[in-house]
Amino acid sequence: MQWRTRKHGLSKPLNALQIVSWIVFTTNLLYFSLFIAPMFGLIVGILVELTYVSTGCVVIRYALAAMLINPIDDIVIKERKAREDNVSFCKSDYEFFCSICDCHVSDQAKHCGKCNKCISGFDHHCYWLNNCIGDKNYKSFIKVLVSFLLQETIFVLAIIIGCTVDDQWNTKVEKIVGVEEKVVMIITHSIMGLINLICLLGGMKLMLFHIYIKFKGISTFQYIKSNKDKNYKSRFKIRRDSIERNAEGPSEVEKSNG
Ligand SMILES: [Zn+2]
Ligand SMILES: [Zn+2]
Repeated sequence: MQWRTRKHGLSKPLNALQIVSWIVFTTNLLYFSLFIAPMFGLIVGILVELTYVSTGCVVIRYALAAMLINPIDDIVIKERKAREDNVSFCKSDYEFFCSICDCHVSDQAKHCGKCNKCISGFDHHCYWLNNCIGDKNYKSFIKVLVSFLLQETIFVLAIIIGCTVDDQWNTKVEKIVGVEEKVVMIITHSIMGLINLICLLGGMKLMLFHIYIKFKGISTFQYIKSNKDKNYKSRFKIRRDSIERNAEGPSEVEKSNG
């Protein structure tokens, strides 16, 4: 039985991490608008809110692009189209073949088991976008990452500035939520600040990784593969060394120790 091919990031099944990202995004947006932006007063508050919301719109715009682009390899489309139209397809032009797709593929393509298709210039399968990242949507993926970092920076900075730099913060909190709820607000601000700081640091680590692999001229997949190969080779070498030592028999020191 042939299992279904996923077309894009919104094709079923959805991923748990993808849904978590939507919940976190919406919660952040509501929390920022209701509790963080009002701390800065009317004029500055509106400006801070507009900056945060417009950055959020940029995140959504590029996330939709990265999610909805079908990153399937063009050679697969070409060969399938030729079969459907019953026209000839020059197989000798292509060196690589995917037995699962039953099609010829380009040299940097890889079959993704989760999407069940070959991806041109395969980089990785992103669980947050629930789509494969390849040649066709890599730029959109990087733009999502950059705009996400910007949005998280605004969130974390707004909480820090609102809570520590602004002397009027205590009075403002009391005015907005009341004296009794102030403690609850401080706790929720700390939790939300910490969650977003973790997201910011995670995003920065990912961004630095992508700068590093671009500098090296490799993809995420090639980086992981070369690391696996290195680990396998070093494990194999240790194992071979120990087999060779055992085959040679006990060393002079081992013999003298009995
Ligand atoms: Zn394939
Ligand atoms: Zn995939």
